[in-house]
Amino acid sequence: MTSNALFYQAGAELPLISHAQGIYMWDTLGKRYIDGCSGAITCSLGHQHPAVTAAMKAQLDQVAFSYRTQFESQVAIDLGDALVALTEAQLHKVFFVGSGSEAVESAMKLARQYFYDRGEPQRQRFVSLRPSYHGSTLGALGLTGYEPLERPYEDLITPSVKVPSPDFYRFKEADIETHVEAVLSQTEAAMAAQPEDSIVAFVLEPVGGASTGARMLNKRYVEGIRTLCDRFGCLLIMDEVLSGLGRTGEWFAWQHWGVCPDILVLAKGMGAGYYPVAGILAKGDLVDQVQNQGGFMHGHTYAGNPLACTTGLAVIRAMQNEGILDNVRELGIYLRQQLDQLKARYDFIGDVRGIGFLQGVELVQSQGSKAPFPAEFNAFSKITAIAREKGLLIYPRRCLNGVEGDHFLVTPPLNTTRAEIDEMMTLLDQALAEFSRILP
Ligand code: PMP
Repeated sequence: MTSNALFYQAGAELPLISHAQGIYMWDTLGKRYIDGCSGAITCSLGHQHPAVTAAMKAQLDQVAFSYRTQFESQVAIDLGDALVALTEAQLHKVFFVGSGSEAVESAMKLARQYFYDRGEPQRQRFVSLRPSYHGSTLGALGLTGYEPLERPYEDLITPSVKVPSPDFYRFKEADIETHVEAVLSQTEAAMAAQPEDSIVAFVLEPVGGASTGARMLNKRYVEGIRTLCDRFGCLLIMDEVLSGLGRTGEWFAWQHWGVCPDILVLAKGMGAGYYPVAGILAKGDLVDQVQNQGGFMHGHTYAGNPLACTTGLAVIRAMQNEGILDNVRELGIYLRQQLDQLKARYDFIGDVRGIGFLQGVELVQSQGSKAPFPAEFNAFSKITAIAREKGLLIYPRRCLNGVEGDHFLVTPPLNTTRAEIDEMMTLLDQALAEFSRILP
């Protein structure tokens, strides 16, 4: 190639994509890669899933786009109903958008408009965790707790009140229970320090992705946050852009604890990489309040178009028809066992965490010290490059807070088989062995 006008990544030299099938992807030189991270934790059904592509092709032959203020779309209605059914009717109303960041913005604006319309315009603060990741647009970035992303825009964003996320790997207290209680009291104090009735919503990722390397919150913590939200009269928003739609072995991660948010944010797995489709689900009374006073003052052009909704519906139907949740529950345990075995063999694997097909591996100098590698060693990019060289794609994250180590995610398509996991683990083992030879 003589020129490349794109500027997504500084200095990265990447292979050119040719085609993909199932968990495999090929570059234009014919090299094969296993998609061990579903792209960006997105391609939940792997590549070229026949039922999804057939549904999309049929929809293209009918109508790709119709605008939501000009036509209703049956498939949008059907997708909305399907999503509500997956929440066991605990959430009742759906608003579609095109990406995770748009969905987070929509959740923030819906929450704010709800209070505004109720005559509580002074509620304008959000509370979120550090570390966390909620998207790249300015509103979502205000929630995000990850310094390198925030820094250049600090004076443009409205930062949320940041409270510490519980940390089940480096906690200082005697046990996890005491740690969670300590984090909850700190959180309560931070919320109480805000002016009275100023909080709109508490926003959290039930299982972190890029932000925390698949740290899963626990039942006591999430119940504690629900209680705090009720006490401070604010809403609970769960960002399941990454953890939603089956990745953890339930349709939604909150179902592991039975603590339903007021607004649920979905994206990635919804379109499973076949088309951008995302959305929020909300409690009915909350939406009624807004709809009865003129409607939600928000929207995006591509929201809920027929091709998007056909894709989303075909993905859910395929998952239901193929017993995907069972696959994730069963093989998620297997995947974790394999990763734990690697941890037992490589002292630089400090922690393996997560659930289902959302597993994170944290890299440290040694299991004893839990100390991160020096930032300039770029552990996250080295391990990813080595794995790619071996033909395995994993999802990296640099951690710059000086406390946590870099990590990578192993998040295969949800229909990955046991034999395919074995194939991934063989390549990962080879990559880790090579990584062990270049340690600083
Ligand atoms: N929230 C979470 C939890 C995410 O993981 C992401 C994407 N990694 C986003 C929001 C933003 O989604 P998008 O990149 O589609 O805007």
